[in-house]
Amino acid sequence: MIVDLHTHTRCSDGTLTPDELVDAASSASVDLLAITDHDTIAAYDQLQAKPEGLKLIGGVEFSTTWNGRGIHLVGVNLDLNSAALSEGTKAQTDAREARAVQIAERLEKKGIADALQGAKKFAANGYLGRPHFAQYLVACGAVANVNQAFKKYLGAGKAGDIKQVWASLPQVVRWIRESGGTPVLAHPLKYKLTLTKLRELTDDFIAAGGQAMEVISGQQTINDTRTLSQLCRQKNLLASSGSDFHMPGQSWARLGKQPSLPENCAPIWDSW
Ligand code: MN
Ligand code: MN
Ligand code: MN
Repeated sequence: MIVDLHTHTRCSDGTLTPDELVDAASSASVDLLAITDHDTIAAYDQLQAKPEGLKLIGGVEFSTTWNGRGIHLVGVNLDLNSAALSEGTKAQTDAREARAVQIAERLEKKGIADALQGAKKFAANGYLGRPHFAQYLVACGAVANVNQAFKKYLGAGKAGDIKQVWASLPQVVRWIRESGGTPVLAHPLKYKLTLTKLRELTDDFIAAGGQAMEVISGQQTINDTRTLSQLCRQKNLLASSGSDFHMPGQSWARLGKQPSLPENCAPIWDSW
């Protein structure tokens, strides 16, 4: 069985429409798919065609702030109509909006007018972030290109470098569990934590009600797989697998092409 439980569409920062994503997954012989856009489930509403040849389950990727760091939790097998889920996605959208307002205020002080409205024109579905401000800065002629926009206005230490504060880890876990879903610690090695810190994160995640972790996230080395499968078994978590697909052409994140789960791990989908 080919499984991909971590994918993105245009509704967040991917490039495919939801229908294009499902088609591409079918073509890649994926049997079980979750769309896990950042902090939104809009993709499921936008699907025009009924998925054929594969099973599509509800998913989302929530950002959370843990000890001042940005950590991602995927929720899978969710009830997309649950009140807890819409509460969660709304809270995250509000947090994103609040940060965008702050960025715009800072840019205003630097002489850039109407940045909030301007950036919004480039942001689909309310998914508003610094790349959209960068596009606006180019469009209004403040800078020549997106690179310059980050260098002058948005990058580390610049006026528009506002840290995003997300919901706490227990809060995000609660949204997922109350929606009937399973919370998954996403791509545990992407945070560049020491193994000690990663264990601490895993323990906090479990204490909050977390139940699974991505043992496989896109292309990864055999060593990484070994590290993660050990941690997964030590902590008695279920194991998940996803490509973290955002767009075609990225060899490290091809739909359904990630390595298979090690046999000593308990697949999250076994009980579905
Ligand atoms: Mn992304
Ligand atoms: Mn992520
Ligand atoms: Mn992702």
